[in-house]
Amino acid sequence: MRIRHIQVGRISLPLAHPFKTALRTVERVDDVAVRVIGENGLEGCGEAPATAVITGETTGSITCAIRDYIAPAIVGLDLMDLDGVMEKLQRCMVHNTSAKAAVDMALLDLWGKTLNAPLWRLLGGARKSFETDLTISVNGVDEMVRDSLEAVARGFHILKVKVGKDSAADVERLAAIRAAVGPDVALRVDANQGWTPREAVRIITALEEAGVGPELVEQPVAAGDFDGMRYVTAHVHTPILADESVFSPADAVRVLRERAADYVNIKLMKTGGIWPALKLCAIAETFNAPCMIGCMLESQLSVAAAAHLAAAKGVITMADLDGPSLCACEPFPGGPNFDGPIVTMTDDPGVGVQVPDLWN
Ligand code: MG
Repeated sequence: MRIRHIQVGRISLPLAHPFKTALRTVERVDDVAVRVIGENGLEGCGEAPATAVITGETTGSITCAIRDYIAPAIVGLDLMDLDGVMEKLQRCMVHNTSAKAAVDMALLDLWGKTLNAPLWRLLGGARKSFETDLTISVNGVDEMVRDSLEAVARGFHILKVKVGKDSAADVERLAAIRAAVGPDVALRVDANQGWTPREAVRIITALEEAGVGPELVEQPVAAGDFDGMRYVTAHVHTPILADESVFSPADAVRVLRERAADYVNIKLMKTGGIWPALKLCAIAETFNAPCMIGCMLESQLSVAAAAHLAAAKGVITMADLDGPSLCACEPFPGGPNFDGPIVTMTDDPGVGVQVPDLWN
């Protein structure tokens, strides 16, 4: 079953509220969409956000990577040699992981539809549903407490709290949120590289002593500062999760072997899609390191692909797949159901999301 054609389009959706981290403020999901058409007449779809501050990719670079490099490398190949096609996709150019991720998920969507089976089942999954956290943007203390209480009222039991923008106030922010939501809500703290190593140890120790009890602290220091990550991991009790420090399977080997973090956050936009993410899962299993599955600011289309991986791999014990919950609307029918904190898989073939005509 040969790959006949690849097309690129755009997905543009308003967010319910502006999304703020230590790195950026965003008001819309404005992503590149991709459609792969097979000679059997079926099609698979994928999506990539331009997260230049993390992956270095822009809407223009993603579009050009797919049109000028990826499509010429894989159009005409037999999709039933899936491993060979994925190898060509990953090797046709370096970097450009979000562009590759969009095509990887579109290929797997088409593969699943061709085999008439849902992707999570084909990947060995048995987990019909799982729970995701919801992100609380970094703002003033009162606003963050209000947003946290609102999230709990919507049924979320796990909050991912963004900090790191103004480190002097981070302990106060988190203590106020803990006091407001009570002891039964899990707090994941994401500093998005916003602290120095010493600052991170001081703040995390203060959180431990104040009884805030974070479940984990994500990416406390700069992505490339492996020594700093190792210093923080060695000097606090709270588990440390590497996000921006880990793109490739090789990064995961380094972080886990050097004990630069306890956990790894897998995002398809960093790995280059589900196929490389499977290697990362195997590495984490080897090191007995639990993984989180995360997303950028993405619509339901690419977050659905991540949900298929989460449902398939036991090593993924934490989900941060709140992209659809942050959007003002859920635009497409089909695929996994995102209902508040619970993501429920369906038996729609492939990734299963039905995408309307977005194609140029
Ligand atoms: Mg993060």
